[in-house]
Amino acid sequence: MPSPPERTRLRRKPGRGHHDRSVIDAIVDEALVCHIAFVGPHGPIALPTTHVRVGDELYIHGSAVSGMLTALADGIDACVTITLIDALVFARTAFHHSMNYRSVVVFGRATRVDDRVTKLAALAALIEKVEPGRSAACRPPNDKELVATSVLTLSLVEASAKIRSGPPLAEDGDDAHLPYWAGLIPLVTTRGAPSPARDPG
Ligand SMILES: Cc1cc2nc3c(=O)[nH]c(=O)nc-3n(C[C@H](O)[C@H](O)[C@H](O)COP(=O)(O)OP(=O)(O)OC[C@H]3O[C@@H](n4cnc5c(N)ncnc54)[C@H](O)[C@@H]3O)c2cc1C
Repeated sequence: MPSPPERTRLRRKPGRGHHDRSVIDAIVDEALVCHIAFVGPHGPIALPTTHVRVGDELYIHGSAVSGMLTALADGIDACVTITLIDALVFARTAFHHSMNYRSVVVFGRATRVDDRVTKLAALAALIEKVEPGRSAACRPPNDKELVATSVLTLSLVEASAKIRSGPPLAEDGDDAHLPYWAGLIPLVTTRGAPSPARDPG
């Protein structure tokens, strides 16, 4: 595998870094939310939004008048981050407290999807990601809604992943015998019981 470009080379704790697309894709696919950083008209900003990966492309969508989508559609530099938290890591010293996580950083420039077929496919993929089969279990976007919606695509080619797993780092000397609890508190996101919307009558 070619060495990663300078921008995605992990300098801090490089042993936690990954550039395998399978590792990156798995994190991107599991996460329901990403954060997109860019320099907008009022300066740097990072905004959360939903995303879906289709092959080598990350798709996002939103209102055609969204400030973020309008700015990104101009082809400016952007950085997308995705974070999954797996556990809280408690150590005997404050210094060694941490979190177990899987995260991804993507650099790139977005382009607007104008092709109707690709746009509809991306919008369906966004819904399918949340619930497989759901795009066929609701009315698809009509022409007015399609015009009101922007879809952007950004390549996943320039991306890195970073993963921390396992227990707290072993503490040295007297610290290893301090009378404090140390270990992992796993964190999981689960779906609750469905709550039906009120019948319109
Ligand atoms: C949930 C969570 C909590 C964290 N808490 C802390 C904290 O409290 N303090 C702290 O210093 N750091 C924390 N980190 C790690 C942080 O994201 C950075 O990796 C770290 O601060 C090193 O930053 P740097 O600028 O030296 O990175 P560098 O190693 O210089 O970054 C170079 C390149 O490596 C890649 N890279 C760096 N970090 C990540 C990442 N997290 N995911 C994917 N690619 C990456 C990017 O492509 C980046 O451009 C946390 C990460 C997560 C996900």
